[in-house]
Amino acid sequence: VSTEQHIDIGADHILVLVTPSGATEPTGVEVEHLTPGGKPCVGWINLDVARNHDLPEARKWQVESWDPITLSPSLLCGCGDHGFVRSGKWVPA
Ligand SMILES: [Zn+2]
Repeated sequence: VSTEQHIDIGADHILVLVTPSGATEPTGVEVEHLTPGGKPCVGWINLDVARNHDLPEARKWQVESWDPITLSPSLLCGCGDHGFVRSGKWVPA
């Protein structure tokens, strides 16, 4: 059983931090948002945490701060949605 923490970062973006069973910190984030055309879309990123050490560096996001949450680098979804998560807010790129 994993646990989820929902964070509304504004601009129609909600982060769902997923902590797998047995883990002490979230390992991935579901990014609920709207496409540039206004339709619901969901992306996923892996976080650069101890549990993900086997994943390639290029496929992990750095957690610069957990609270308020700041991630690096920017998030680009296949739908074209692109922006930054900084100090708990969505900042369009
Ligand atoms: Zn999208």
